[in-house]
Amino acid sequence: MAEIGFIGLGRMGLPMAANLAKAGHRVRAFDLSPETLEAGRQAGIQACPSVEDAALGAPFVISMVPTGRHVLDIFGGPSGLLSRMAAGSMVIDSSTIAVAEARALHEAGREHGIAILDAPVSGGVMGAQAGTLTFMVGGEEADFERARPILAAMGRNIVRAGPAGNGQAAKICNNLLAGISMIAVSEAFTLAKRLGLDPLTMREIVSTSTGSCHALTSYPPVPGILPNVPSSREYQNGFAADLMLKDLRLAERAAMDTASSSPLGTLAAGIYNLFCQSGNGGLDYSAIIKMIEGAEPGTAKT
Ligand code: NAD
Repeated sequence: MAEIGFIGLGRMGLPMAANLAKAGHRVRAFDLSPETLEAGRQAGIQACPSVEDAALGAPFVISMVPTGRHVLDIFGGPSGLLSRMAAGSMVIDSSTIAVAEARALHEAGREHGIAILDAPVSGGVMGAQAGTLTFMVGGEEADFERARPILAAMGRNIVRAGPAGNGQAAKICNNLLAGISMIAVSEAFTLAKRLGLDPLTMREIVSTSTGSCHALTSYPPVPGILPNVPSSREYQNGFAADLMLKDLRLAERAAMDTASSSPLGTLAAGIYNLFCQSGNGGLDYSAIIKMIEGAEPGTAKT
């Protein structure tokens, strides 16, 4: 069993670290929030007073923090962890960050002899709690194999997407699709309703027709179609629209960096931005249907 430093015990990080501890790994964690650290302690994780206490001396360090800026501040620069970690140790960053930031982290790791994996996840808080996350991993094959048993304690599908940054590339391409298709499915359901077509009937027909997709079959934005999705619990405890907006902006940035055309991605980012600006950013992203239906901003809970 490994000794693991874990940085960032938020909505995702806490259950991920708890699953590592449950699997028998020795987890030393740090978070800026004392309340969060206390919750970690109660989950069997050793709570550390500083990021150095959590990370230095551990052969594996996992980070699960909000943005690339946080990641680069923690690991990069003259006083960052990379300059003080033992050569041969490994950083696994599971935060969703820009591909370019992930590649910069890999480069900095190489300079210090530290192996880096970008390993963002899909599956949300429920997947983190259940230990069923999908990990999409960028980095060297040998490093991926070394990390696999650790990732396996937190996830079910662990896939190497290719070299440095490709994990983040997979993540933003997935969320670009998810964000756009949720808007498309919301438009179709709204139109169907106004044409007098029952949403259950529409889902049944389209799920075996050419318009079928995950947002329609497994994550419908209309309440009452499936019992265990955010739309059926007032859009709570899902993948926040704020996070979808963040990921669509990362996709936009990647599209600009590679001179790729992504007009629907840009449009989708604008739509979620309007939705989040109206005070709905904490709701699951499927609540976007409320804006498409023309509900008053701020009333998306019902
Ligand atoms: P969160 O805001 O709940 O947690 C982030 C944690 O990081 C907070 O507890 C914060 O105190 C801590 N933190 C920030 N800077 C720190 C530092 N310098 N040192 C130590 N701790 C620090 O966020 P989350 O929902 O857990 O998401 C984390 C990452 O995972 C993000 O990049 C997000 O985009 C990604 N993600 C989230 C979900 C989801 O459903 N929530 C799903 C997939 C991916």
